[in-house]
Amino acid sequence: MEIIDGKALAKNVRENLKKDVEELKKKGIVPRLAVILVGEDKASQIYVKNKSKACIEVGVEYEEILLDESTSMEKLLNIIDDLNNRNDITGILLQSPIPKHLDINEAFRRISPNKDVDGFNPVSIGKLCLNQDTFVSCTPYGIMKMFEAYNVDLDGKDAVIIGRSNIVGKPMALSMLNKNATVTICHSKTKNLKEITKKADILVAAVGKKHFVTADMVKEGAVVIDVGINRTEEGLFGDVDFENVKEKTSLITPVPGGVGPMTVAMLINNVVKCAKNMIAQKN
Ligand code: NAD
Repeated sequence: MEIIDGKALAKNVRENLKKDVEELKKKGIVPRLAVILVGEDKASQIYVKNKSKACIEVGVEYEEILLDESTSMEKLLNIIDDLNNRNDITGILLQSPIPKHLDINEAFRRISPNKDVDGFNPVSIGKLCLNQDTFVSCTPYGIMKMFEAYNVDLDGKDAVIIGRSNIVGKPMALSMLNKNATVTICHSKTKNLKEITKKADILVAAVGKKHFVTADMVKEGAVVIDVGINRTEEGLFGDVDFENVKEKTSLITPVPGGVGPMTVAMLINNVVKCAKNMIAQKN
């Protein structure tokens, strides 16, 4: 059994990005991420802080647009339009969740696919579906990079994802399908979940329930990826009962220190990719 060191991998990604950013600066482009935060969601504030820290470390400029809880849809769309039109902005991120009176899908649709560093625009997701080059949602993208780094070959493997969200489950499924895995997506209406997860060579848990995946749900020798972030009074927990599951696996991610740091690193990667694309379009 090996534990995936997401922190070390992410550090490596950031170090390589630092060099890319230096090269871009020589060509007159400074990557700059704009993050829109609406309201005062506590978890979002932590995520945004981590993202700004990573940007600064790599040399990517960072701009935060803080909007009041009562912001109108019209105002939000106008702000996105402005950011789409600004040449100095190379990536736009709308931190979710946003207040209920706002339509998040409409907002994601408005972000230019050229600056869609989170990969949530339907164009980005459509391209992923067609296995074309695009911005891939940062969490699944980070997990795919983990597979690469730890030589996990997906070809012909049975991959099972628990969770069908637009930001994790679905893009994760498409990413693994694009690498020739046989993919099953499970969700809250799935029957006989354990029967399905027990067949998984690769099991990805993106549920949002502490220790949801127990040892009896895991095949001997499986690769287990824990996306869950569950904050409780006792601390931070994943979706996988790590202590009891780990001995059954060949490879497993811890929480914290697994998927989370890679998600942030891939965001910066996407901001830098935007800047590179801008240069390529100019030439
Ligand atoms: P979500 O709430 O949108 O989706 C949860 C999914 O779990 C749903 O598709 C639902 O059908 C499924 N589910 C719920 N109960 C189930 C059950 N009993 N059996 C089978 N499936 C069930 O959540 P999300 O945005 O996809 O995030 C999932 C988790 O991952 C959360 O804990 C979130 O905080 C975390 N997350 C972590 C990162 C990271 O970088 N590590 C990034 C995004 C999300």
